[in-house]
Amino acid sequence: MEKNKYYRLIPKVDIILADKTIANLIECEGRELVMDAIRSCTENLRTLIEASDSEEEITKAINELPLSIEKEVKSASKANMVSAINATGTILHTNLGRAPISKVHAKALVDIVSGYCNLEYNLDAGKRGERYSHFEKLLCKLTGAEAAMAVNNNASAVLLALSSVCKDTEVIVSRGELVEIGGKFRVPDVMEQSGATLVEVGTTNKTHLSDYEEKISEATGALLKVHTSNYRIVGFTESVPVAELCELAHSKDIPLIEDIGSGVLVDLSEYGLSYEPTVIDSIKAGADLVCFSGDKLLGGPQAGIIVGKKKYIDMLKKNQLTRALRIDKFTAAALELVFLEYLNPDTVAKNIPVLSMISQKPEEIKNRAVSLKRALAKKDIKAKLSIIECESQIGGGSLPLERLSSFALAIVPKKFSIFETEKKMRALKRPIIPRVFDDMIVMDLRCIQKDDIKDIAEMMGDIL
Ligand SMILES: *Cc1c(COP(=O)(O)O)cnc(C)c1O
Repeated sequence: MEKNKYYRLIPKVDIILADKTIANLIECEGRELVMDAIRSCTENLRTLIEASDSEEEITKAINELPLSIEKEVKSASKANMVSAINATGTILHTNLGRAPISKVHAKALVDIVSGYCNLEYNLDAGKRGERYSHFEKLLCKLTGAEAAMAVNNNASAVLLALSSVCKDTEVIVSRGELVEIGGKFRVPDVMEQSGATLVEVGTTNKTHLSDYEEKISEATGALLKVHTSNYRIVGFTESVPVAELCELAHSKDIPLIEDIGSGVLVDLSEYGLSYEPTVIDSIKAGADLVCFSGDKLLGGPQAGIIVGKKKYIDMLKKNQLTRALRIDKFTAAALELVFLEYLNPDTVAKNIPVLSMISQKPEEIKNRAVSLKRALAKKDIKAKLSIIECESQIGGGSLPLERLSSFALAIVPKKFSIFETEKKMRALKRPIIPRVFDDMIVMDLRCIQKDDIKDIAEMMGDIL
C-alpha cells in the first residue's frame, strides 16, 4: 500500500484552523487547547497510517479529523472529578471520598467559600482572630476537653502532636497497637518523622500496665495509645484501658496521647453497632491529647482534630509544622457546621449523612430498592431484576467486623456481560459504582438517596 499518498492527505495546520468547527472551538475553549489537540490528533493519524492496512479506516480517520480534535478538546477541558453514586453499601468508602457532607451544609459552605469570610478575623474586636476559634469552644463543650484545634487529616494530627510534645524523647507504644492504616499511615514511620523514638512494649496480643511501667525512664516523653481501628485481635488478648494508662503517665509527670482513629461523639450502640470508644470517654479518662479523623464516623470534612489539655494544645498551635498542616476556610466552616449538629442528640443522626446511613432501618432501604426496581422495570430493558438481602459495611478502616443488614437491587443483564455493564456504569456522566458477586450487578441501596433513584433508573435504562 502506497502510504505516502495518505500522509500527504493529512491537512496542514492552517487548513485545519480554517475549518468552521475548529474556529468555533478556538472561540469557546481558547487557542492553546485546540492547538494541542491538533498536534496530538494529527500525530495519532500518522501512527494510524503507519500501522493500518485498511484504506477505508485511514480515509475515515482523515475525514473525521475535525471531529476527533473537537472530542479531544472537550475531554481536556472537562473536569475529571465528578459526583458519583455509591452503590457498594460501604459508607466510609475512602476511594469515593469517605464522608459526604449534607446538602444543607454544602449550601451554607457555598456562601462562605465563594466570597470573603471571617476565617481569621475577630468580628467583635475588629482585629485578627484564630481560624480554630469558630469551633474550639463548641468542640470543648461536646468532648469535655479544655482546648481544641484541627489540621489536614488525622495522620498530620498525630505527627503534629508527637513532634510538638515528644521531639527527641522516647514514646512508649504497645506492640499490639503498631498499626498501619490504608494509604501508608504507619505508627512507627510517623513516629520517626516526628523526631520521637519509638519504644515498643508488650506483645502482639497482650500488653500489661507493668510493661509500660518498666520502660518509663528519664528519657520518656509520652505514652501513646493507638486505637486498632481497622483490625481486631481476638482470643487470648489484653490491652491497658486509657484510664489506667493516664494514671500511670500522670504519676510520672508525662502526658498520654491517644490516636482514637474515628472521632465518635455519640454512643453507636444506639444504632445497633457495637460500642466504639468515644472522644468523650478518652477525655474523661484523663487523656492529655486525643487525635481523630474528621471524615470517618464523625461524618465531617477531611480533617485531623486534636482535643485535650490547653497546655499541650498551645504547644501544638505554636509549632511551625502547624502552619504547613493548617486547615482552609472550607474545612473550618464545615467542621463548625458538623459540630453544631452534635449539640442536639435528637436530630444529629438525621442531619449527618454518615450517621443517617448507619442508623437506617433495613425496611427503609428495602423501600428504596423496590422503588428503583419499579422505576427500572418501566424502561424497556433487557435484564433480570430482583431484590436481594445483603450486608453493608462501615468502611474507612472503622469497625471492621461490623456488618449491617441491607437490601440491594440485583441485576443480571441479558445484552451485555457483567464486566461490560459495570464498565458502562463507570463511564456514565454520573458514574455508578456497584458491587459484583454471584454473576450479578448488586446495587446496595444503603448509600443511595431517595432523590437519586429517578436519575439512576434513567441512566441504567439507557445502558441496559
Ligand atoms: C484512619 C486513622 C488514621 C489516619 O487518619 P486520616 O484522617 O485518614 O489521616 C490514623 N490513625 C488511626 C487509628 C486511624 O484509624
